[in-house]
Amino acid sequence: MSRLAQTPGLTDVQQEILATVRDFVDKEILPVATELEHRDEYPAQIVEGLKELGLFGLMIPEEYGGLGESLLTYALCVEEIARGWMSVSGIINTHFIVAYMLKQHGTQEQRDYFLPKMALGEIRGAFSMSEPALGSDVSAITSKGVQDGDAYVLNGQKMWLTNGGSANLVAVLCRTDEGHPQGTAPHKSMTTFLVEKEPGFGEVRPGLTIPGKIEKMGYKGVDTTELVMSDLRVPADRVLGGETGRGFYHMMDGVEVGRVNVAARGCGVAQRAFELGVSYAQQRQTFGKPIAQHQAIQFKLAEMATKVEAAHAMMVNAARKKDSGERNDLEAGMAKYLASEYCKEVVEDAFRIHGGYGFSKEYEIERLYREAPMLLIGEGTAEIQKMIIGRRLLEEYRFQG
Ligand SMILES: Cc1cc2nc3c(=O)[nH]c(=O)nc-3n(C[C@H](O)[C@H](O)[C@H](O)COP(=O)(O)OP(=O)(O)OC[C@H]3O[C@@H](n4cnc5c(N)ncnc54)[C@H](O)[C@@H]3O)c2cc1C
Repeated sequence: MSRLAQTPGLTDVQQEILATVRDFVDKEILPVATELEHRDEYPAQIVEGLKELGLFGLMIPEEYGGLGESLLTYALCVEEIARGWMSVSGIINTHFIVAYMLKQHGTQEQRDYFLPKMALGEIRGAFSMSEPALGSDVSAITSKGVQDGDAYVLNGQKMWLTNGGSANLVAVLCRTDEGHPQGTAPHKSMTTFLVEKEPGFGEVRPGLTIPGKIEKMGYKGVDTTELVMSDLRVPADRVLGGETGRGFYHMMDGVEVGRVNVAARGCGVAQRAFELGVSYAQQRQTFGKPIAQHQAIQFKLAEMATKVEAAHAMMVNAARKKDSGERNDLEAGMAKYLASEYCKEVVEDAFRIHGGYGFSKEYEIERLYREAPMLLIGEGTAEIQKMIIGRRLLEEYRFQG
């Protein structure tokens, strides 16, 4: 029988990269993940290892010092990493989104300046759309940028920045409707600013404060923060792409590849939950036999494995579509929706298989149980995915009567 979540048609290079990452996960991440997570400790040593493997530059073009790999390679690496510890995939995810936005939309000067340092992991990216009063409804943001000579002055409060403390570059979305005729559509009056800062907390640059880490139920180790801008001056050449009014499109493009990435994380966490469940079920005895021999438990394992397979196939399909240059919002939305829901269900089943021990912090499944819900929210909730999927379906299946 073949193992779950295989991917046909990979090149030798892709297979080699994945084997290296899997080995790294087994040796360097899995043995320490739960302990670090319980201490909410940033995995500094693991991050150094990721840098050495070149993972911060995986999709950055070779001309900028990256590995120039595809979204598929990236997503499969993320799946492996999330199998080890989802937080570690969170550390590279926002970096990857910012590097992707720079590659796609940056000016030549911005690409030349940022991408080589990002490929080495010297500059690490975070992205910031959400605010205290909004997450799904991005078009309602209130943070504002106003031009003042050769700079923009930014004011406002942002929420939920993954890597907000550890990053030294934040792509911040602000409203820049100054001078625009009244009635400009909200999504046409937003701009992405490339804000460089010192890593850490407190005032990390004049006018820019990162108050501290938000305490979370799971997804620990990686820092999630607020960001407060108070007359923060950003030079005009740090407007992404050099043109205001394009920020909404930049961010939506970024989260679209981010959705494939979240799907990949769901696949990785679900795989790990399956591995834990199938292993425990063969060791735990009840009524004179291993619980894996009770049909009810076997059915659970069958359902879990089927979900792992289905989610993996949809995630791979969405990544390949993007790599082929085609629009993939439908596939990415479906993959993100399905993989995150299935992940939650597979984790729940593995938790149940563990009986009371699943509730003990000594068992890895306890950590996964607290991590899986984040995937239902980040990069757009299930409801938002369904809105995207529904709209696209109505475009494709337009009634011709
Ligand atoms: C750990 C973590 C890390 C994050 N990292 C980042 C980050 O790095 N950068 C960043 O910008 N953001 C980040 N976010 C924010 C995340 O993207 C938002 O939390 C998410 O988009 C949901 O927004 P919200 O929390 O404001 O919920 P809301 O938008 O207030 O939604 C609340 C509920 O209403 C539902 N809902 C909303 N609108 C509709 C509708 N039209 N129809 C039906 N239902 C609807 C939602 O699905 C949800 O169930 C992060 C969040 C978390 C928890």
